[in-house]
Amino acid sequence: MNRMENLYRQIIMEHYKNPRNKGLVDDERYNKSHIRNPSCGDDVTIQTLVEGGEVKDIRHEGSGCSICCSSASVLSALLKRRPVEEAQYISTQYVNMVSGQSYDTDVELEDAEAYQGVKQFPARIKCATIAWQAFEDTLGGDDDE
Ligand code: ZN
Repeated sequence: MNRMENLYRQIIMEHYKNPRNKGLVDDERYNKSHIRNPSCGDDVTIQTLVEGGEVKDIRHEGSGCSICCSSASVLSALLKRRPVEEAQYISTQYVNMVSGQSYDTDVELEDAEAYQGVKQFPARIKCATIAWQAFEDTLGGDDDE
């Protein structure tokens, strides 16, 4: 394992052990989305509060592998308090990076950069992206569930 891979692993494990913004809130102003990944047992719920075109808050809850759970924490820390369009754009770049597609490398992905090695493990791509898909669902405006 080279130094970069080691650093990325540490970032992922740190978010896994000390997740940011974990736990759902009982507040109907939040949009909620729930996604499961049967191949790995990952189960993620994202709650997002959007007000005045800004992502005011992101909460997450769920269970699953370290990649899935940690990436929900990374997402919440990275995208909270951003304009909706910016959060959506950053999320798209992240998903493209993880799935090995071209993405805008000028975007500061911060801790989310730690997942760039995931593209080498196609079975884990879903693990690293379901929280982000759920987040994008919450921006869609329809409040399902
Ligand atoms: Zn997983």
